[in-house]
Amino acid sequence: MPEQVRRIPAYVCFALEVRHLVSAGLFDDGGRRDYVPIPDPRDVSRDERLPVDVRIIGPGKAIVVLDGQVVEAVSRPGLNGREFWEFVCPGCRRACRKFYRPLGVDGFKCGECWRIARPSRSPRWRGATGEEVARHLARALVEMGGRP
Ligand SMILES: [Zn+2]
Repeated sequence: MPEQVRRIPAYVCFALEVRHLVSAGLFDDGGRRDYVPIPDPRDVSRDERLPVDVRIIGPGKAIVVLDGQVVEAVSRPGLNGREFWEFVCPGCRRACRKFYRPLGVDGFKCGECWRIARPSRSPRWRGATGEEVARHLARALVEMGGRP
């Protein structure tokens, strides 16, 4: 079964780490709103500016709006008394530090839900052409229902 699972290479996805939102101060003062630079997989020389709105709704709980997509975040005490925030994946409800959004798809989900291939596990992507990757991605998204 695992051999049959199609995997999406990470480099055709937007990737967003919650720690970047934390370090940008978006979880401060009850939550803030700002544009967060996120690497654009279509053009590594530029960043996309992702609109992000964070609202702390209770102890260790926040609502995060990522480019219109509403997700949750939860925190636990981390080192130095600072809170350690994680996203709650809208697909599997697990806490995760990093979200992915494949090109052409609206929603962020965790790497497990999108079946993101780790580079070491996907030797067949070495040397693949852009067209091959695009064909694979289109097939994989159709198989997964296309939408998050
Ligand atoms: Zn998930």
